[in-house]
Amino acid sequence: MPQVVGRFAPSPSGRLHLGNLFCLLLAWLSAKSQGGRIVLRIEDLDPARTSRAYADALERDLAFLGLVWDEGGSAGGPGAPYYQSERTALYEQALARLEARGLVYPCFCSRAQLHAAEAPHAADGEPIYAGCCRSLTPAQVRARERTRAPALRLEVPDRVYALVDGHCGAYAQNLAADCGDFILRRSDGVFAYQLAVVADDAAMGVTEVVRGRDLLSSAPRQLYLYELLGAAPPRFCHTPLLLAPDGRRLSKRDADLGLDALRARGFSAAEITGRLAFAAGLTARPAAAAPEELLSVFSWDKVPQGDVRLPAGLFD
Ligand code: GLU
Repeated sequence: MPQVVGRFAPSPSGRLHLGNLFCLLLAWLSAKSQGGRIVLRIEDLDPARTSRAYADALERDLAFLGLVWDEGGSAGGPGAPYYQSERTALYEQALARLEARGLVYPCFCSRAQLHAAEAPHAADGEPIYAGCCRSLTPAQVRARERTRAPALRLEVPDRVYALVDGHCGAYAQNLAADCGDFILRRSDGVFAYQLAVVADDAAMGVTEVVRGRDLLSSAPRQLYLYELLGAAPPRFCHTPLLLAPDGRRLSKRDADLGLDALRARGFSAAEITGRLAFAAGLTARPAAAAPEELLSVFSWDKVPQGDVRLPAGLFD
């Protein structure tokens, strides 16, 4: 059996919160319990929303918790660079391969046009693209390019892309009906998450993708990209989302549940990972436990299917 390669793929758009850490802990445990490696890739595609300072802070947070990675981040490694902002040449190459197949077209639609009231919505809440720009003639493209920079879209087939998720089970989408032609590069030149994540996971030899369930609906699009780029897709495991005790989704604004606040309140690293493991159903009691101490109790079968509400008082 080839070695399992998992990855941490955080976006440095703020400090990590417990919801991010919950998912990163499960990614680490899943890869390490199979004798695998972890690659750290910093998903800083969008320069307006991410920063190197947050990337450095998240490395410190991961190291503090004992979520040790084997390659990547600022330490580098054989697949360097590990910052998406420095990997544009790879995305250009992937885009050129898709363009060579005649599947990419410029899209001049404005936000208002895309969000027109009648547009049906995909599982991720985005409007399903109606295909307005798909059949523009070269002359129409040239005319529109004079006033507006286009985004680039990928044409999708009227075909079902299915997977058996390692945690959620069977999941499928007909790309034309459920998703629509999707963006590969934004009009400001920033590559889209879908293209970058597939190009990177393929280039870095990632065999297992563990991430939050909010990204499950991206997996069929990503399977299509793997097929077009001629790469083997990884196993996907989408984790439950961790909710605040009142049922709200955690966000980077929940500073009281951020690591700094927890450390200031006296929680040790093992107390934090132990409580996260308890919330994930891995242990019967919220006892302190470092990540390595959780390897023997880790099993996806114990992790609940639905979203996980943090038990009230667990981090008080
Ligand atoms: N960078 C994404 C995030 O932080 C994760 C992408 C992925 O795991 O595929 O939400």
